[in-house]
Amino acid sequence: MSEVYTQTLNKLIEEFAKLPGIGPKTAERLAFHILKSSNADAMALAQAISDVKNKIKRCQVCFNYSENAVCGICSDVHRDKSVICVVEQPKDVISLEKTGACKWVYHVLGGHIAPLEGIEPTDLTIEQLVKRVQRGDIKEVVMATNPNMAGDGTSLYITSLLKPIGVKITRLARGLPAGSTIEYASGKILTDAIIGRTELE
Ligand SMILES: [Zn+2]
Repeated sequence: MSEVYTQTLNKLIEEFAKLPGIGPKTAERLAFHILKSSNADAMALAQAISDVKNKIKRCQVCFNYSENAVCGICSDVHRDKSVICVVEQPKDVISLEKTGACKWVYHVLGGHIAPLEGIEPTDLTIEQLVKRVQRGDIKEVVMATNPNMAGDGTSLYITSLLKPIGVKITRLARGLPAGSTIEYASGKILTDAIIGRTELE
């Protein structure tokens, strides 16, 4: 980083440059924006970042982000708790919820199995999912991992663990383009995939 800036400003530019999609030029622009902005605005941003890290944890039932021990979806009495939709990431929950077609609850795996990247089943919340299903009262598990190789592999592995329990396992219909992700699917395609889900044999 250039010597023309003070150490403190350099530090802020460096931190911004670590963010996804932020190049050195944008990092510089953001840092100067903060420097020029009011104390109140700058502190509000600092506080929001601090709160996100201090207040948000994982729901102890579904592992989605939550500010309470149990998230809003899991504690919603109008939800069908007998249907669990399994997704890779919290962002997938948001995409599916936006369709308005889901009355079920979720289970957030925290990623997909990827041995080459060093991500093993034990790094995900698969064991917790199996225990959740074993506890009973679950009619259906909807696999909504991404329709790509890693997502399909993860779904297959989980299905092999859940089948012996005797629960019905479905997956989102293949209107979802193969190789795509839940996160970026359009609401219409997702809704069709939810309604047209098929049972996994
Ligand atoms: Zn939850």
